[in-house]
Amino acid sequence: MTAPGEALPETGTVEIVPPAEAAAIVEEVADAPASTAPLLIALDIDGTVLLEDESLSPGVADAVRHARQAGHEVMLATGRSWEGTRGILRVLELAPDYVVCSNGAVILGRVDGDEVRYERVHTEQFDATEVLTRLREHLPDARYMVELPDGRRLYTEPLADWNLLNAARVPFEELAGQPVSRVVVVSPEHTDDDFLRLVDEIGLAHVSYAIGWTAWLDIAPHGVDKSTALELVREWLGVPPERVLVMGDGRNDVGMFTWALGHGGRAIAMAQGPEEVRAAAGEITASVEDGGVAAVLRAL
Ligand SMILES: [Mg+2]
Repeated sequence: MTAPGEALPETGTVEIVPPAEAAAIVEEVADAPASTAPLLIALDIDGTVLLEDESLSPGVADAVRHARQAGHEVMLATGRSWEGTRGILRVLELAPDYVVCSNGAVILGRVDGDEVRYERVHTEQFDATEVLTRLREHLPDARYMVELPDGRRLYTEPLADWNLLNAARVPFEELAGQPVSRVVVVSPEHTDDDFLRLVDEIGLAHVSYAIGWTAWLDIAPHGVDKSTALELVREWLGVPPERVLVMGDGRNDVGMFTWALGHGGRAIAMAQGPEEVRAAAGEITASVEDGGVAAVLRAL
């Protein structure tokens, strides 16, 4: 027990702050940049913003608007080429400074002007001759497509769900022999597991690749994925490393999950994604059908 008069402050030693000064202190705390700096929010498209039938995830358009009004930069980071991406920006009424396409091999930048227009500001490329030759040996019946650094695409056989704007059908031999930004291989007669095993056997060294939820293989230049492009965008925009939030559902999102978490940011997987993808994320939200993106953006 404290002896009387020992530990208690003497009368008159407690500092009284005038009300105006107290208000200023409260305001200063509220304005601390760590809690209010805008986030760089990168959303995958398929399985995250869009359902399989291309309809929007419930509430996503409103939630994106809400996040933008709160001052955050909302952008897309997708495996789609630009042709398949631009329409989604329109649907979401989004015109971000940058868009990451083709799993990080391509970055589009918005051009200043009266109307919303984008141009390629960064393109990765590689010589895919060897990888195409090896894949063809093992998958003679697969369908192949390459994207050239200028955005044109060349394909061997059409697929029903391929957007073929700015694309030309060519013999397989014409795919190789020039630098490309990406290679897409689709093998409708294989299951996902067959395809995973086969790709493992082929041993794709010196390239980066991701397998989609159908027998769909996406090949990018070595070391390139969504995260390498997002790191460039983050630097260009001057966003602090820990102010990043990424969301996705697929194996091609694991790189950006690792990147965001490594920076002290947030990486959120959709509930319906494969287990290995959910395990790589820091958090899991509801499925795309149940409005997982809207739930996260609304809570910011
Ligand atoms: Mg996806």
